[in-house]
Amino acid sequence: MTLFDSPAFEGHEGVHAFSDEKTGLKCIIAVHSTARGPAAGGCRMWPFPSAEAALEDALRLSRAMSYKNAMADLELGGGKAVIIGDSHTQKTPALFEAFGRAIEDVGGKYWTAEDVGVSPADLMHARKTTRYVAGLTGHSAASGDPSPVTAEGVFRGVVLGVRRALNRDLDGITVAIQGVGHVGAHLAEKLSAAGAKLIITDVNENALRQVAARTGAKIVAPHAIFDADAEVFAPCALGGAINADTLPHLKAKVIAGGANNQLADPEIGRAVYDRGMLYLPDYVINGGGIINVAGEIRALDRQEAFDPAWVEMKLAHLMETLGEVLDRSNSEHRATHEVANEMAKARIRLAAEQKAAA
Ligand code: NAD
Repeated sequence: MTLFDSPAFEGHEGVHAFSDEKTGLKCIIAVHSTARGPAAGGCRMWPFPSAEAALEDALRLSRAMSYKNAMADLELGGGKAVIIGDSHTQKTPALFEAFGRAIEDVGGKYWTAEDVGVSPADLMHARKTTRYVAGLTGHSAASGDPSPVTAEGVFRGVVLGVRRALNRDLDGITVAIQGVGHVGAHLAEKLSAAGAKLIITDVNENALRQVAARTGAKIVAPHAIFDADAEVFAPCALGGAINADTLPHLKAKVIAGGANNQLADPEIGRAVYDRGMLYLPDYVINGGGIINVAGEIRALDRQEAFDPAWVEMKLAHLMETLGEVLDRSNSEHRATHEVANEMAKARIRLAAEQKAAA
């Protein structure tokens, strides 16, 4: 199969591969769509077993960013960068400067930010050779850590989901959180403050102890989280938490968490719907982080300071969009992820048509 026949490539505007012998940089920048604006999405550094695996990841993630940015109503398209390498042993300032030059070569069609294996400090090096970098700290346009905003959006999504599915507020509701890292820990504190009871798990004992001390959460082993007696399951660790093995164990009526790619495949989303569970599509409920990053891109473009009020306005609007997804799922008797995908594609199509007509 050639790249152009690959299902992952479908709909992409471009894929750019770069290597730099001096620094060892090998990276792929995938631009799925610029219909709504320049493509934006983080950069992941990972020891991919092959260039094909890196390409597949870049393509899958860039399309997801198009959908996420469209549902967050941002004037941004979708893109993603992957650097092939071990972030623990192969990072150097020179490598990220070379990465910045690669971004610069894409000519402003792609803005980068942090993702797995890439920190704000790494991005500061990329910033020396390109301006298309967001998610930084230390300047007036900087948006800082996006995780608290992501967690705030997920928290509001949980409130919405519980109201819709159970006609209750959070007081006395039990939420099972898988992963108490950046997003999960903030989410746990917000839920606890709203009166929810928590069951948490993580592979990081230290993170677990800290969150439990602050929230009174009950700790369970990683495999036991799927059997937790909880009304809400909040995946906040890695992708694929909802799959054919885990779904039969879940007792929750609502699935609402921060992780990307929660559904192992689209069919499992249909199975969730058929079981009468309410799934809040991941790339909609977790859009707070990219809204925060978009606030920085906006501030840089306008040469203004970062505006938290704009971020709050966009986050509130995102929650209305989430409500619309749930309304349509209800009235059209369709799974929420199917409704969200259709809405995202329609928004991107409309922007492309408007751009072509302009
Ligand atoms: P993180 O690395 O800080 O936290 C993830 C946590 O999951 C870690 O504490 C890790 O130990 C834990 N974990 C890993 N494997 C596990 C397992 N098998 N069982 C239980 N716990 C496990 O990452 P984060 O920034 O909190 O992001 C969490 C998820 O949310 C990711 O899927 C990320 O892509 C997504 N996301 C994050 C943001 C953001 O603003 N940080 C925005 C959108 C989406």
